Amino acid sequence: MISKKDPDIIRAYLEDSSNLKGGYADEVVIPENIEELSRFLKKANAAKEPVTISGGGTGTTGSRIPFGGVVVSLEKFNKIIRISAPDMSAVVETGVIVDELKRAADKENMFYTSHPTESTASVGGTVATNASGARSFKYGSTRNYIKRLKMVLASGEIVDLSRGQVMVSRDDPRVRLPGGSEIGLPLPAYSMPDVKSASGYFVKKGMDLIDLFIGQEGTLSVIIEIEMALVKKPEKILSSFVFFDNNESAWNFAVDARDMSKKKLPRYTASAIDALSIEYFDSNALDFLKAGNAGIPASRSCAIFFEQEVVPDRDEDEILNEWLALISKHGASLDDTWVAMTEKEAERFTGFRHAIPEAVNDLIRGSGFRKFSTDIAVPDDRLLEMMKFYTDALAHQKMRHVIFGHIGENHVHVNILPGSEEEVALAGELVLKFVKKGVSMGGSVSAEHGIGKIKHKYLEEMYGTSGVLAMSKIKKAFDPNCILGLDNIFSRELLKL
Ligand SMILES: Cc1cc2nc3c(=O)[nH]c(=O)nc-3n(C[C@H](O)[C@H](O)[C@H](O)COP(=O)(O)OP(=O)(O)OC[C@H]3O[C@@H](n4cnc5c(N)ncnc54)[C@H](O)[C@@H]3O)c2cc1C
Repeated sequence: MISKKDPDIIRAYLEDSSNLKGGYADEVVIPENIEELSRFLKKANAAKEPVTISGGGTGTTGSRIPFGGVVVSLEKFNKIIRISAPDMSAVVETGVIVDELKRAADKENMFYTSHPTESTASVGGTVATNASGARSFKYGSTRNYIKRLKMVLASGEIVDLSRGQVMVSRDDPRVRLPGGSEIGLPLPAYSMPDVKSASGYFVKKGMDLIDLFIGQEGTLSVIIEIEMALVKKPEKILSSFVFFDNNESAWNFAVDARDMSKKKLPRYTASAIDALSIEYFDSNALDFLKAGNAGIPASRSCAIFFEQEVVPDRDEDEILNEWLALISKHGASLDDTWVAMTEKEAERFTGFRHAIPEAVNDLIRGSGFRKFSTDIAVPDDRLLEMMKFYTDALAHQKMRHVIFGHIGENHVHVNILPGSEEEVALAGELVLKFVKKGVSMGGSVSAEHGIGKIKHKYLEEMYGTSGVLAMSKIKKAFDPNCILGLDNIFSRELLKL
């Protein structure tokens, strides 16, 4: 196993996209095969040495940043083992970069639906955070596609777990792992909200054990190999940027597009509208794009980006006309609407979408302060109220901010960009206010980025201290010495270390 102790090399593992400072580690180890990793974990467990698992380092919650102990880098597990078009699946090692998988799947006319916007993430990282992307509106999160995980537990035990193989019951806490060992796994009583969520462990009545390891943020196991379902690549995608004069029109457009796509009312059943993604950009987000000379109509203050697959059995003109009618209904100018009908144009639009979080991250990196970012999702019927709550509060505080993201899933990111220590304190208070509001509506505090090291108190808002304590018993069942992903999801104080 490769070991690196040079501080200059270690430094590269002390950051992600959260701008969380102060990380430190004694060593970075790079196992070259699963047996080596297993032996290493066995030793670390015996020595109670903290182990932080590092993927692509694109996470936004500081979850791969170590605060002590050893970093395990999985860069040697970088092979695409198999891509099979007939059964629409892939088997890959954890360190494969999402973009590489996307390109390999593309050759077979398929794609990995749950790619997050940041394509330099590792596939293992997307599983460990249950990542989503713009198209999760149609396809759901990573969880829906995971068929099998090969993992190493803190004890060094190697577990190869398929979906459907081990079910967990609230009545009987004993679980037999595929390797033969048995553990007591007390499932907490909390119920997860019925919204998009990556807030702590997945727990549901009669659940599949594999679901615990998806979204675990490096706290339960080291994922080494992933078998996933792929989907057929859409033959043609219609995508569009629609620019609006005011927020209310954009939000109402998004609600209609969402409800028509989900066929929420009987009158929508025959609608040709069936979006893959519905994304929102406020005026500050558009300013970032204008700075890149994107030719955005100067008079418009916000935008919705949407995509829809054009399927052969549906008339393309009918789809386009329905969207155009919806755009007109909500007062947007058709002259200022951009429509991409080719893959190249669509890629340009996706590039704009990606440019916003990147620009925000660059700006905040240069400022020396950390950004405060929400990741809250609320139920369908509370979206408009939540959007108004955000914009009213931000207008009152007059702090630099950007709002963008997955409005179709009632999930936008509010990024507050403080410019002074005073603003840092204010931003923290404001985000907590948003979290409390989202929770009071039946929402989740993290819809896709996870809890990591910076959102512990939000998780307590959602499940209460008793709920989080009950959740931590799952961690202790798999990792009694709490060596894996220390400070992720749970503070070390809560784990009583
Ligand atoms: C510009 C930008 C846009 C983004 N857009 C999105 C988006 O649209 N949707 C979204 O969901 N996220 C998004 N993200 C966040 C990020 O890309 C995802 O969280 C991604 O899944 C992290 O993967 P990673 O490999 O970089 O993980 P890392 O940051 O390295 O690690 C993240 C967590 O996963 C754990 N982990 C990594 N590998 C393993 C493993 N093999 N076994 C066990 N645990 C492991 C780590 O310990 C850590 O807890 C964005 C980030 C950026 C910078």
